[in-house]
Amino acid sequence: LCEAATPFAARSPAAIRRLLSALAILEQRDGKLNTGSLSAVTAAEKLGGSIHGFVAGSSIKGVAEEAAKVDRLEKVIAVENGAYDKGLPENYAPLLVENIKKGGYTHVIAGHTAFGKNLMPRVAALLDSQQISDITSIEDEKTFVRSIYAGNAVATVESSDDIKIITIRGTAFPAAEVAGGSAAIEDGVDPKADCPTEWISEDLAKSDRPDLATATKVVSGGRGLKSKEEFDKIMLPLADSLGAAVGASRAAVDSGYADNSLQVGQTGKVVAPQLYMAVGISGAIQHLAGMKDSKVIAAINKDADAPIFQVADVGLVGDLFEKVPELTEKLNKA
Ligand code: FAD
Repeated sequence: LCEAATPFAARSPAAIRRLLSALAILEQRDGKLNTGSLSAVTAAEKLGGSIHGFVAGSSIKGVAEEAAKVDRLEKVIAVENGAYDKGLPENYAPLLVENIKKGGYTHVIAGHTAFGKNLMPRVAALLDSQQISDITSIEDEKTFVRSIYAGNAVATVESSDDIKIITIRGTAFPAAEVAGGSAAIEDGVDPKADCPTEWISEDLAKSDRPDLATATKVVSGGRGLKSKEEFDKIMLPLADSLGAAVGASRAAVDSGYADNSLQVGQTGKVVAPQLYMAVGISGAIQHLAGMKDSKVIAAINKDADAPIFQVADVGLVGDLFEKVPELTEKLNKA
């Protein structure tokens, strides 16, 4: 019996898995593979079919070779062209669509990062598919779990589209290890689409501290810090004493105490470190949406009724301007 004659739904789970093929979109910056984007490979693994990786940009050979070491990847599709270095969706989306069509993939998976959020809705539109955003779990090849209402409810969604265009929450899928694999590297197709957008420049906040999105410890400051000077004076020594990344509430960012890239929450970064310490943060639902999956949550707030204490494992009611320097001093002596 010819396989194509059997409706998809009528096949056995093993037969379905054989037909599944996922393309994991991998990110790169300045010719270096962003290993955080290997979460897409871990997510693809849950589907059980074949997995290819996709990379594009200048000097892409090194990135492709690095990606090829990922155990679960069968193939890495690489497109060498500096026009894709900055991941502008205007030309990256048609590039991806051509490669999706050529590879006949059933699932295309990217991180729910600035890059993925920019790119995947456009890819979905070009393929006439419904994009499935920010998923936290894969139930089967067509059923996915995602949180809604700022993390207050969980929706299980089913897609009947032929090609599922998915972004995943990085904290829900640990990045696949760069080890044990030797995937084939293949040149992808390059449609060289016109790009009406021009990359002018970027102004990145540089820091020697751990990266907020992947750090195992995060200390975040809120409006309670009162000013940028106090934020830096109180939060940075605390972060250094713990070897932690620095985060901030939106109120702290909007007030200019901390850089935009440090915002944690619904409209900022979603983090799930081993330790999350909230200092002078009230615990609004939009903030909780970005940190409530942390393993241990500690909070310092002068208001014993602050909502942050409802999710905190450890709480300290007191004035942060006294308590945090005291804590930092003790940590430095320990
Ligand atoms: P506040 O709510 O003002 O809390 C300050 C806290 O500091 C208080 O609890 C106070 O008791 C405490 N405090 C003050 N002085 C001291 C002291 N001396 N010692 C100890 N404690 C002290 N917010 C986010 O954080 N991230 C988001 O991504 C985000 N996205 C949003 C999206 C939308 C659509 C909307 C509508 C809102 C969003 N917000 C987000 C904003 C959110 O609703 C809150 O306004 C914000 O989180 C409040 O920040 P905060 O806790 O720092 O400030």
